[in-house]
Amino acid sequence: MSLTTGRGERDYADGNYVAIDAGWSDAPPRKGFFTDTSVCIGCKACEVACKEWNGVPEDGLNLLGSSYDNTGALGASTWRHVAFIEQARPMGRQDAGLAGLPVGPTATGSVNQVAANQVAANQVAAQMVAGEVSQLGTSTRAVELGMPSFELPGVRAEAGDRTDFRWLMSSDVCKHCTEAACLDVCPTGSLFRTEFGTVVVQDDICNGCGYCVPACPFGVIDRRIGEQGTKNVGIAQKCTLCYDRLGSGQTPACAQACPTESIQFGDVEELRERAATRLAALQAAGVSQARLYGEDPEDGIGGAGAMFLLLDEPEVYGLPPDPVVTTRHLAEMWHMAVAAAGTLLVGAAMSFIRGRR
Ligand code: SF4
Ligand code: SF4
Ligand code: SF4
Repeated sequence: MSLTTGRGERDYADGNYVAIDAGWSDAPPRKGFFTDTSVCIGCKACEVACKEWNGVPEDGLNLLGSSYDNTGALGASTWRHVAFIEQARPMGRQDAGLAGLPVGPTATGSVNQVAANQVAANQVAAQMVAGEVSQLGTSTRAVELGMPSFELPGVRAEAGDRTDFRWLMSSDVCKHCTEAACLDVCPTGSLFRTEFGTVVVQDDICNGCGYCVPACPFGVIDRRIGEQGTKNVGIAQKCTLCYDRLGSGQTPACAQACPTESIQFGDVEELRERAATRLAALQAAGVSQARLYGEDPEDGIGGAGAMFLLLDEPEVYGLPPDPVVTTRHLAEMWHMAVAAAGTLLVGAAMSFIRGRR
């Protein structure tokens, strides 16, 4: 099957054409990831395994206040990021065992009820509750934090108090793009295409110029900040798809650690087929919002080496809906810049000549 990419016609029969284009004459099959977010449980084993194997320093243990996410986004010290997206939606058919059961009350609803029961047991306090005032003179009404209940579904609340709720969890990573803008703009050759078709930074060659940072359409790569003496501070950093492990025939650390096989590692062509099969199975089971992301070799980045199965729009997960390699029009832009400079030069020369007459 042939396809048109930003770099011309390509044929699947070329095998690992990204590595062949980069000069690898005897490249093995292209390696990558298929991340099936429908089975991610948000355990973050992948984040931890990545940090441990690659010696990536911690980048703040801060709860964001918007969810149980404490890393926020991919960055120089977060090469895997597990997003926790909270939605007021029923879990529906993605749920393994709770589908059809009543959903639980919010934590706030439970707390209000417990507080009211205890206070009502006391005659005097009950009068105060009528005024919604405690013995300390403050409100007895709990504040809505939007947190789910820890109780079993339907234990305490009436049907009217119940809330539908689901978590979307997704382990994001560098996409190891077929057309990788980070690699295109790197002036030192620090970013390079490996024989596995992946994109890797060489720490000892990177000069920290940061050109790659705005070039990435996904906001993946960044320069590491930290105290003087922090490993690779100032150097652009991102997932290497565990280049060292691949070289010795091992599975990347994150995929190895994932207990649910949400992160699947393998040959990109085979992963594409696996992703299509899984999508068909989910849609047949009624998960109509399921979709693939990054699997299409004719998209704006020529297809990703790391593709995803999502359960909602890409924007919900913080992913651009239609990413395009930022260097796609670089040659045209250079031609236009040269033409504009030429026009200016001719104009200046003509004014100079006219001025002398
Ligand atoms: S452009 Fe971004 S996502 Fe693509 S390979 Fe480079 S860093 Fe990874
Ligand atoms: S492939 Fe390796 S470097 Fe990339 S996220 Fe997984 S563990 Fe980290
Ligand atoms: S991708 Fe796997 S290891 Fe990572 S959070 Fe999800 S289930 Fe856990």
